[in-house]
Amino acid sequence: MSSSDPVLRVERLASAWDGVPVLRDVSFDVAPGELLSLLGPNGSGKTTLLRCLAGLERPTSGEVWVRGTNVSRWPTHRRGIGWMSQEPALFPHRSVLENVAYGPLLARRSEGDVRAEVGRLLELLRLVGFEDRRPDQLSGGERQRVALARTLAARPTLVLLDEPFASIDVELRSGLRAEFRRVLRELGIAAIHVTHDREEGLFLGDRVGLLFDGRLERLGRPREVYERPDSVRSARLLGYNVWREAGGPIAVLPRHVRIGPAGTGRRPASIVAAGDTGAESLTIVALADGSRLEVRSPDPVSGARTVGEPVGIDWADAVELPEPPAPAKEPKNGRTLRGP
Ligand code: ADP
Repeated sequence: MSSSDPVLRVERLASAWDGVPVLRDVSFDVAPGELLSLLGPNGSGKTTLLRCLAGLERPTSGEVWVRGTNVSRWPTHRRGIGWMSQEPALFPHRSVLENVAYGPLLARRSEGDVRAEVGRLLELLRLVGFEDRRPDQLSGGERQRVALARTLAARPTLVLLDEPFASIDVELRSGLRAEFRRVLRELGIAAIHVTHDREEGLFLGDRVGLLFDGRLERLGRPREVYERPDSVRSARLLGYNVWREAGGPIAVLPRHVRIGPAGTGRRPASIVAAGDTGAESLTIVALADGSRLEVRSPDPVSGARTVGEPVGIDWADAVELPEPPAPAKEPKNGRTLRGP
């Protein structure tokens, strides 16, 4: 195989719980050194997908290839796939150094080799000086850095990151994301990162995929995916306002909606709430059909906005969306509770 062959190839993966589909026909590749983010709402199948890739769950159909080899029937420990989740699984009574060195020592690598590699990883993750601390003597962010060092010490071909920053304080999160991205890039390790956090997915991924109901709907560069949503649900997940115009549904970013006096603009609306976040103003308005729109602006909220106040709105850069599929019909006399 050549150096540009994919590190991972997922072909038509499907999975189900009690006959209910959780993953449907999911196919994608991960290139060497690539960071792929999968963004999806809760319950869309992100963790199930990672578990299938790691061999912790058996898909109902489909194949997983790592570096050109079909590993679909291989056990977890032979796949060369590292895993890191929201709650780092560190040994509580062992030091940082012991936690990071545990895997390589177990793999019977020479002590000198392990020392050199662990030292390099601790340096890369800015953990020098923390070697003797136990996990309970670390902050949440430091624990996640140790967890990444431990995952990388096993020299995985690919790393799976399952919402790794979800329990980190918001003000530390963006720094830690940037840190993870830098380390993976420096080591040239490919990774799949899953999250329900739009900003995180778009920031981290070289490419980003959108997952809904177990289906991969979009896969592309973050800017392409963000600027051209192609369904009502992907537009909503990406933070667009979605409402109906005569020609069908449209998507407009909150910063592209303008509020003017009643009688101006293209649509009448009324104020639902208005406030200032410090960095920008956020106003919620309702259209006559009940749709609620978020309006964000770097300018402070103009005038004294009162709830119910009539206004007019205008917008720019609308993306036209296809009609969403009709919801599945409820069966006639459908009963949902089963008796004992
Ligand atoms: P996500 O990680 O995107 O939140 P999951 O992969 O955890 O989604 O779950 C996808 C779907 O599979 C959900 O509908 C969830 O209810 C279902 N599911 C997950 N684990 C189980 C389980 N152990 N038993 C039954 N259903 C499950």
